[in-house]
Amino acid sequence: MDLLPIFMNVRHRPCLIVGGGEVAARKAALLLEAGAKVRLVSPALARGVRELVDGGQVEWLERRFEPTDLQDVSLVIAATADEAINRQISELAQARNLPVNVVDNPALCSFTVPSIVDRSPIQIAVSTGGSSPVLARLLRARLEAAIPSSYGHLGALAERFREAVKGALPDVGSRRRFWERVLTGPIAELVFSGKQEQAEGELAVELERAERQPEGEVYLVGGGPGDPDLLTFRALRLMQQADVLVYDRLVSEEVLALARRDAERIYVGKERDNHAVPQDQINQLLVDLAKQGKRVCRLKGGDPFVFGRGGEEIETLTANGVHFQVVPGITAALGSAAYAGIPLTHRDYSQAAVFVTGHLKDGSMDLNWSSLAHPNQTVVFYMGLKGLPVICEQLVEHGLAGSTPIALVQQATTPRQRVFTGTLATMPELIAGKRIRPPTLIIVGDVVRLHDKLAWFTSPEERRLGEVGSGAAVDGEPHTEAASAPVRVAGGG
Ligand code: SAH
Repeated sequence: MDLLPIFMNVRHRPCLIVGGGEVAARKAALLLEAGAKVRLVSPALARGVRELVDGGQVEWLERRFEPTDLQDVSLVIAATADEAINRQISELAQARNLPVNVVDNPALCSFTVPSIVDRSPIQIAVSTGGSSPVLARLLRARLEAAIPSSYGHLGALAERFREAVKGALPDVGSRRRFWERVLTGPIAELVFSGKQEQAEGELAVELERAERQPEGEVYLVGGGPGDPDLLTFRALRLMQQADVLVYDRLVSEEVLALARRDAERIYVGKERDNHAVPQDQINQLLVDLAKQGKRVCRLKGGDPFVFGRGGEEIETLTANGVHFQVVPGITAALGSAAYAGIPLTHRDYSQAAVFVTGHLKDGSMDLNWSSLAHPNQTVVFYMGLKGLPVICEQLVEHGLAGSTPIALVQQATTPRQRVFTGTLATMPELIAGKRIRPPTLIIVGDVVRLHDKLAWFTSPEERRLGEVGSGAAVDGEPHTEAASAPVRVAGGG
């Protein structure tokens, strides 16, 4: 770190600007915003500065700079076009330990003026140490866009309640949790939507509640299909503030790696036909942890409300009066579609997409097959790998052509993604004897034809291998295996 970032109080303090051009005008405006008393030395004035002088906001000394000007000021900004004068000001100021900034000359500065995102009372300052003001401005623009303008109101709210919260919650940890809850939850949303008063009311109620009974909270978070880049910002934030992480098998290693390091981790994974922790025990576990005052992140693969039993978990939470938030995630169908280049709908091929579970109950699947076996629609089967032969057989029996394309997407969006394509007639045979690894998603419909054209997750090299079947694919690499290729054992088998 080459520079120490600090925020300086210049309210009611005399600050000196040497120079009368447009740059000086901008610096004067900035100092005025921070409440400084601005004194400006220059034989002439540009329009912008003149307006400030005429308005009585800036005191103007109509002459050249003199060393005595540095007496009794808190900081100085040199903004003249004369490098020799700028240098002299810098040297004199530094000899007096007076903070000095020389515009566009970092070497002569003892401080630089950052790019500022102003959400008063919140200020974000961006510095590139003078190396690239343009870069700083670009970064500032991104921050401006990412941080709602109402963040300032949120800051003001926190300021107003700071002492009250301190009084009510003497414990630092519970104070931190309280503020995290307020600043990321519904109360913050109220502020963002301009409902200040309501937010204050809710905050007071929340504070009273927190004072009476320290309480935990459950975040039901969709961890997406595997690629950590597909997490939502909120998912990431909650994963990083939770005290306990309750997760299952579908959550990828890469996603888990982003959770708070010192959080307690509880695995409640379920294998097919082997329920490691029964669902009602998971539900109760969440309640118990929250009742101990913990913030629990219940992390699930994909989306919690798509074949995720999230609904059952929050029913128990509600019944027990436990606070919770639900954070959606990218469900496997959407992740697979995007990363395998299979649009779920397409004007030419499919006007609807249906998500169904292919989970076998007593060796069969209780599904409305005649509604599924429609051309012009895409059917996505979750948990269907074991029942694949039944799926293919039933769809054909209920009217779909045997030539209807079908894709298996294994471990979608991870570096281990593999796509197998075939038809309803050929697929069961094609994959027989191959070890397809879970989780695998099945997509049925004409949109699968687009995979060859649109798959971007497969490198050209691997596509070439997949096309002609020239050799085995590399294990662990994204890979496409087409039904038209000679049958060969998948490298990842
Ligand atoms: N809530 C999850 C689905 C849970 S059901 C979601 O929204 O995605 C489990 C099934 O999801 C698996 O059997 C598999 O069919 C599918 N699945 C989940 N993650 C997957 C992935 N990365 N690749 C392929 N299929 C996946």
